[in-house]
Amino acid sequence: MGVPTVGCACAVCTSTDPRNHRLRPSVMVQWKDAGGRARTIVIDTGPDFREQALRAGLTRLDAVFYTHAHADHIFGMDDLRPLSFAVQREDGEAIPLYAAPETAEVLERVYGYTFSPHATYPTRARVRLETLRERTVIHGVEFLRVPVKHGTLEIAGFRFGNAAYFTDVSEIPESSFAMLKELDVLVLSALRHKPHPSHATLEQAVGWAKRVGARQTWLTHIAHDLGHEETNRILPENIRLAYDGLSVPVRL
Ligand SMILES: [Zn+2]
Ligand SMILES: [Zn+2]
Repeated sequence: MGVPTVGCACAVCTSTDPRNHRLRPSVMVQWKDAGGRARTIVIDTGPDFREQALRAGLTRLDAVFYTHAHADHIFGMDDLRPLSFAVQREDGEAIPLYAAPETAEVLERVYGYTFSPHATYPTRARVRLETLRERTVIHGVEFLRVPVKHGTLEIAGFRFGNAAYFTDVSEIPESSFAMLKELDVLVLSALRHKPHPSHATLEQAVGWAKRVGARQTWLTHIAHDLGHEETNRILPENIRLAYDGLSVPVRL
């Protein structure tokens, strides 16, 4: 829901600590390809994508990966338009959006004016849906789809190099734990202390983080129930709440 949460005046929502100001979750991965050219992907384009892209100084985008089709993860897709026009001018190409079939179906329905074969809207985003497979290589970097449960849904997490990103997780299957060996950086969602049908509690997330044993775990998708400073105080040293604008080096 983002923090401050609409209509709420709790201590976290009214906090002046900038780390208690949370936009909807997303991550950007940047690297230099073999030719020394900067490459960038993002995972999810939520309703805050525009603001996040501006803050991160995003000027070029090579691909988008989607975890699932909930509004807080897809409702910024239209703001890919300016970036997609730039890519089209340079390469004559559309930006690929990697999504599972059920996620692609929602994107097609919500953004009919973009994806419909009958779409006539002239300035629609120059994007194309690609089926998310187990393994996708973008300019030399491999992105592995790691399935997790989000309530009754199966959604996508991602492993790239020594890092992995999971949001909206309520359960990690055994077969997915097996894909998370030797991680340096793990990003994992942790909503709050109180149980939720489709999100991990802080305690569950910490348990999984310990089991995965990444050098550093960052928690994301945090509700207003968890204040930054006070929550970090009760966490193990290598498990921290992430915050907006956080940048972490990874080996790809
Ligand atoms: Zn969700
Ligand atoms: Zn979500």
